Order: sequence, then C-alpha cells, then structure tokens
Amino acid sequence: MSSLNKKWQKTLELIRSEVSEISFNTWFSDLNLLTVDEKTDTLYLECAELFKLEILQTRYMETIKKSVSFIFGKVYEIEILLKEEKQEIEKEKINEQNSLMQDFSSEFYFNPRYNFENFIVGKNNEYAHAVALAVAEAPSKIYNPLFIYGSSGLGKTHLLHAIGHYILETTKLKVLYVSSEMFTSELINSLRDTNSKVKLKNFKKKYRNIDVLLIDDIQFLEGKDATQEEFFHTFNHLHDLNKQIIISSDRPPVKLESLDDRLRSRFAWNIVADIKPPDYETRVAIFTKKVEMEGIELNEDILSVANLVAEKIKYNIRELEGAFTRIISFSTLLKRPINLALAREVLKDIFNTTESQITIESIKRQVCKYFSVTLKDMDSNKRTKNITVPRQIAMYLSRELTGESLPKIGEHFGGRDHSTVVHSCRKISQEIIKDEEINNYVSELMKIIKEE
Ligand code: ADP
Ligand code: MG
Repeated sequence: MSSLNKKWQKTLELIRSEVSEISFNTWFSDLNLLTVDEKTDTLYLECAELFKLEILQTRYMETIKKSVSFIFGKVYEIEILLKEEKQEIEKEKINEQNSLMQDFSSEFYFNPRYNFENFIVGKNNEYAHAVALAVAEAPSKIYNPLFIYGSSGLGKTHLLHAIGHYILETTKLKVLYVSSEMFTSELINSLRDTNSKVKLKNFKKKYRNIDVLLIDDIQFLEGKDATQEEFFHTFNHLHDLNKQIIISSDRPPVKLESLDDRLRSRFAWNIVADIKPPDYETRVAIFTKKVEMEGIELNEDILSVANLVAEKIKYNIRELEGAFTRIISFSTLLKRPINLALAREVLKDIFNTTESQITIESIKRQVCKYFSVTLKDMDSNKRTKNITVPRQIAMYLSRELTGESLPKIGEHFGGRDHSTVVHSCRKISQEIIKDEEINNYVSELMKIIKEE
C-alpha cells in the first residue's frame, strides 16, 4: 500500500472514532482516496454513489477535513468526486497542466503563503533573507546569480517564491519558477515528442524569453548530463542578457560533485548564501507566527506549547509546521483547549524517544551536518580550512563530551594518532577565547549535541 493510502486508512480510522458505527458504515465504507494534488493543496476522494456524496458534502466535510489535516499534518481542500467523473477530471487536469506550462508568467506556481511577510528571520537565515530581498528589490542589478542552499525543510522554496511574488507585484518582468525536476521532465517530454523539433524550440524559447528564472533544488540535475547541458545554455543565455537567475540547492556548489564543473563554477560567480537550522528563539517565533496566521489568540498555554515544540523539533521547519497542524486539528476535533497536556498527547511519538547517549559518532554526525561536510571528508587527510576546522572542533567536542581516551578518539577520525587529537583540542580551546566565531560554533554545537 502506498504511504498516501496508509495515511488515508489512518484517517478513516480516526473518522470512525468520531462518528457512530452506523454512520461510518453507511457513508464512509467505500470512500476512497484518489489522489493528492500538492500544487493546489487538494485531496481528491472518490465515492460510488451520488446520494452518499451529497451527505458527505453537507454533513461530514469538517470532520473529513480535520481528520485529514491531523493525519497528513497539513491542511487540504477536500474534493469528493463521483466515480464516473474521475476520468474526466484527469483529462482536464492534464489539459490544464499543459496550458499552464505555456503560460510562464502565471502565478500558479507561487504559493500565496510563501511571501516575505510570513518569513521569520533569525540568525540562521538572515543573510539569505537579506540577499533574497535585495534581489527582489533590484533584479539583475546586484547579485546575479544568487545561489541559496540549505537542508530540506529550511525555507529555500519559501524564499524563492517570496522573490517571485515580490517581483511580480512590483515590476512587469516575466518571472518563471521551476523545480529542477520539472525542468528535466519538460525537456525529456519535448525530446520524446514526435514533433520534437518544434517542441524543443518552444522549450528553449520559453526558458530564454524570461527576465527572472527561479530554479529550485538544482541538486536534482546531478548525473543528468543532457539536462545539465541544456541548463548550461539557458544559464549562459540569460546571464549574457543580464537576466536575473536564482538557484536553490541542498548543498553548496562545491559539494555538487556530479555536476558539470562549468555549472558549478558559474553558480559560485556571485552570491552563495546558506540557511542553517533555526535556533530555539526562531523556532518559537515561527510557531507563534503560525498561531497568529490561524487567527488564534496567543495565551500562556499556547506559548508553553510553542516552547515545547521548539525544544523537540530542531532541524526542519516543515516538521515544526506539521506538529502545529496536528495540534490545531486535534484541538478542534476533540474540542479541547490547546495546552501542554494536549500537545504531549498529540506528539507522543516525537517526545517519547529515549534520550540518546552522546558518542564520538553522534558528535561527528552533528558537526558534519552543521558545517555541511561529509563524514568521509571528516576522516580523510584533506587539509583545507573548511574541513580542518570542523574536524578539530569534532575532536575537541568528543574529548569534552564523551570521556573517551585520546587514542580512541583518534581511531574514530580516520585512524589518527593521539598527538593529533591533543593538538586539535589545544588549538580549539585557545581559539574559543580568541575567536568569537569559533566560540559560537562550539557553544551552538554543544547545545545541539546535548539536546539530541
Ligand atoms: P525547503 O524548500 O528548504 O525544503 P520550504 O521552503 O518548503 O523548505 O519550507 C518548509 C516549510 O517551512 C514551508 O511551509 C515554509 O513556509 C516554512 N518555513 C521555512 N522557513 C520559514 C521561516 N523562516 N519562517 C516561516 N516559515 C518558514
Ligand atoms: Mg523546497
């Protein structure tokens, strides 16, 4: 069973606990999940008989909606279709997508929630936010290309959409947002078509005829040589004409190892900005912003829930939002106030994880994640600064936090001698005093590792 279907089964179970046995068997027993459209945030259900559909629509929509948002962790519009309608809808959807593909200035691709107003700025993203805003205010004037990177769920797509909204609102420029996946499949489709010459020409025209290109998740192009080649030409063409290009990725350009060198170097031509996981205060601020957006009044109870969630969910804002949605829908479904007891109940799978012990390996993992370096680099003999500093910090933290012996620590770092570990620990203890940046790294990492 697909994971979507599993979620739907869980949703049904939840509905079953909400309504009477007879109602459930009568109205819900043959209600199936058809598909989920993430672009329009719509969940399509399918029902076999018209009279059932009508009852579901008039009486049970709220229950379905809340249960769905609880289980899926996201609010969806619900569309229930009659079985025969299904094929028609699918045809329509395909037609609609095709026509939208051609209409590149369409705002369809931009999620209305992803704007600058809704983007909470913290230390982790203030630079990325500042350059994104600057580019939105003055496209093609200052930072071109702009390259934004960070792990999943930290707001890259949000920032790209925000730039798109802003430019569309303030200028007449032609803006196109595309995920690298879409770019690839469009290219493949045009190459496959029987009328491929014309299609390919249209494809090129579409991408070369715009003023602003926002391309998301460029790491997806790794290993796809033909697509990279096409993107390379698109990039050059736009850049030569001084058109604004904004790229997002889950890694910095140097780490896109299976990407053509020519592309990698172009990505780093101008500004490369990273987004790190949000600190505690930023996580609380994001949670309370969501509360505000839902029109719910903040009170002490909700603030303590915000603190609790921020303590537990550290690395992914999408997960933080999921927790929020679950809490809200649980509270509405059960008509219970939002407080710590409710939050603990709803999020028990997250909270019940046993405290993990700090080990050299867990420290290495956190340090790698923090600095975006690989475990392989950590153990290697590479001596570039972007690797040696994280490596020395990881050794220092292992010494401070695990009580393992120096030779043991050395072993875990690619079989290094214990004297190297001594040297690293000394170096970092001195730098902590002299260098504020290093001091910040170490104290933030200590916090992250202890809280894991
Ligand atoms: P990514 O593209 O990096 O995987 P997204 O941009 O999809 O991440 O963000 C995941 C979710 O978190 C989105 O719903 C987004 O609105 C939200 N989000 C991310 N960063 C912030 C922020 N700084 N303030 C408010 N919401 C945020
Ligand atoms: Mg994204």
